[in-house]
Amino acid sequence: MVRQFESPPLYVQAPGLLSRAGEYLRSLGKQLALIADDTVEAIVRLPLTRAAVEHGLNLTLVRFRRECERSEVRRLAEFCRGTDVVVGAGGGRAVDAAKLVGAELGIPVVTCPTLASTDAPVSRVAVLNRPNGAVEEVRLLERSPALVLVDSDVIAQAPVRYLVAGMGDALATWFGARACWRAGGRTLFGHAPTSAGLALAERCWTNLRTYAREALVQARAGTVGEALEAVIETNILLSGLGFENGGLALAHAVHNGLTQIPARRPVLHGERVAFGLLVQCVLEEADETEEVLNLLIDLGLPATLEKLGLDRDEAEIELAVDYIFSREKAKLANEPIEVTPLRLLAAILRSDELGRASGRRG
Ligand SMILES: [Zn+2]
Repeated sequence: MVRQFESPPLYVQAPGLLSRAGEYLRSLGKQLALIADDTVEAIVRLPLTRAAVEHGLNLTLVRFRRECERSEVRRLAEFCRGTDVVVGAGGGRAVDAAKLVGAELGIPVVTCPTLASTDAPVSRVAVLNRPNGAVEEVRLLERSPALVLVDSDVIAQAPVRYLVAGMGDALATWFGARACWRAGGRTLFGHAPTSAGLALAERCWTNLRTYAREALVQARAGTVGEALEAVIETNILLSGLGFENGGLALAHAVHNGLTQIPARRPVLHGERVAFGLLVQCVLEEADETEEVLNLLIDLGLPATLEKLGLDRDEAEIELAVDYIFSREKAKLANEPIEVTPLRLLAAILRSDELGRASGRRG
């Protein structure tokens, strides 16, 4: 059995990093295409352009239209043809679009997250959505991003909801890797998980138990303290390496299943994963279930279907469960316990009850 460890060759995180990005970018090529939507452009274009010019590099903006779907990736790739490097700035979607463009054109990808909302900037997995935002395909790319640039000042200025969603995604990392390890399961790439991946995944849990609440206070105040720096690293680097090299399990399967039900409001990846984690804990009867639930409540992560913009409608949830059993078999196989459709349905409903009861207490 193959054990394999994946990682970008360089990850850099610091306050004010964007204005010094040239020294890292120059080794990758001269012509850079920057993929960003209009909101992100307003944040990153000026410092990145200055940093590029200082080192004799040329940076061209290619406007991202906010959904990482097939036709958009094709359009972006046409604009980027002929450049040496593609830089994806923004949240998970823009970053994934840049990774897909880089793969299409065979050029290095730099990820420059302006939100710590997912671990997408580090991974060589890209999620293609349908135009309505539902997951269409999870694509495994040939290479990890060549460089990850994280400006913690920029992340501290973003709405806290994104940081919190990233914590939801990173919370699930340890539980996914642990389940996969115990089950003798496989990573997304079909390899056995490594001890290194497991150790990094466990550190996500340790860091979030220690720093999540304090980091939220710092993010609300827009100050970059040690707790916030630790959580940014956890959400992006540790979680990315932990899931790629440790494996994903039920929490992410539930996430993908729930995207199949139309929600009344937009829900972020990590928010749905957080609820999926609660379901995984309930189904595994994990010792940490109560601690996870308390963290979700304290951080404002969804612990009920209602908070995900869904009804407690058994017929709808059954559709999600059917999807999981037809399309998410690999993640189910990474669970060390037997999961049946009936048990999963019951665990989703039970999680919703626990979340509602906690909400009433809080
Ligand atoms: Zn995730």
